[in-house]
Amino acid sequence: MSCLKIDDLHVDVDGKQILKGVNLEIHEHETHALMGPNGNGKSTLLAAIMGNPKYHVTRGSITLDGQDVLAMEVDERSKAGLFLGMQYPSEVSGVTNSDFLRAAMNARRERPIPLFTFIREMEKTVKEMEMKPDLAHRFLNEGFSGGEKKRNEIVQMKMLKPSIAMLDEIDSGLDVDALKLVAKMIHEMQIEQGMGLVVVSHYARFLDLLKPTHAHVLVDGAIVVSGGSELIEKIDQEGYDWIEKEYHVQV
Ligand code: ADP
Ligand code: MG
Ligand code: MG
Repeated sequence: MSCLKIDDLHVDVDGKQILKGVNLEIHEHETHALMGPNGNGKSTLLAAIMGNPKYHVTRGSITLDGQDVLAMEVDERSKAGLFLGMQYPSEVSGVTNSDFLRAAMNARRERPIPLFTFIREMEKTVKEMEMKPDLAHRFLNEGFSGGEKKRNEIVQMKMLKPSIAMLDEIDSGLDVDALKLVAKMIHEMQIEQGMGLVVVSHYARFLDLLKPTHAHVLVDGAIVVSGGSELIEKIDQEGYDWIEKEYHVQV
């Protein structure tokens, strides 16, 4: 029964306060859409949960099944079951995709995954994501197109099998067919292993495919309104201006 709980989270970046008290709870099987205008702290929230050292938590707590996430290093957070598909995945020269993934998988196992098993699984996943077979041997994201980088994040998610995954604008740069593929992968993982999901997206089309159980709007470093699919629909039709008026926040 996975549960990621964020309580009164305050985060500074470069000495500037970005998050000002975020509360959020994600259980397994749930899909939470995290919405809000640009520059209000969505990526900051996900980066802080994953443990990016640029993001300093100054107040509040993050727990996963009661364990103190803030006390963990990034690799321990991954091992505990958290995964972040980044808005801008970085290119890492000199490390192949397969070396990176195998190391990440081994870090969360008692015994290393047998090489043959790993290769078979990687080939299968790469094929499912409709990527070129040479992906395994290329350096991590180096020279990848925007869409390839995003697909590669999903390959990683599929192989690491997180209990809670966070996908930051995974849909940007993906065409409709790729969006459907990503949504299908996510659904499979939710059915097979009950993965909980937080997804940042501006596109109703992608959210239509994912059918979030919850939706939240983050404005000026705090969640000002939460709801269900009706909230997503309203934002799709009316934008965010009404939130400013109704909740007296500066969008
Ligand atoms: P969103 O994902 O909602 O568009 P972000 O979390 O990326 O918003 O950004 C929130 C604010 O924090 C912005 O003002 C942004 O400039 C600032 N910020 C985020 N990350 C960094 C960083 N690594 N260095 C400096 N400022 C940052
Ligand atoms: Mg943004
Ligand atoms: Mg962002």
